[in-house]
Amino acid sequence: MDCIFCKIIAREIPANIAYEDDRLLAFHDISPQAPSHVLIIPKHHIATLNDLNSDNADLISHMVLTATKLADEQGLAKSGYRLIWNCNEQGGQDVFHIHLHLLGGRAMHWPPG
Ligand code: AMP
Ligand code: ZN
Repeated sequence: MDCIFCKIIAREIPANIAYEDDRLLAFHDISPQAPSHVLIIPKHHIATLNDLNSDNADLISHMVLTATKLADEQGLAKSGYRLIWNCNEQGGQDVFHIHLHLLGGRAMHWPPG
């Protein structure tokens, strides 16, 4: 499968890994949009949020809790941070393997552009 994130999981492409367990991988974004920008991805390929169902509830919960743990470890818990999921073209999704963005270390704007 021609998926860049599956290749990172398989160690075919290098990444700066922040956390790994049996279900997910977290690594620093190659083009960071904030001083801290980490991507949390499932090891199992899921293309978009539209492909999720109730069977994935534990996985999604684990991704969010891993993001909050990483935010705390990076000293972002008190100052604040943002978690983002992009879905399909108008949602700004470029990589079709679901990923949770953890962004922090600067003030975030609202509403997003
Ligand atoms: P999205 O637009 O939500 O699909 O986000 C995809 C993210 O993946 C972008 O922020 C990219 O900078 C990031 N990205 C793409 N290729 C790599 C890579 N090889 N290593 C780390 N991050 C990547
Ligand atoms: Zn994939």
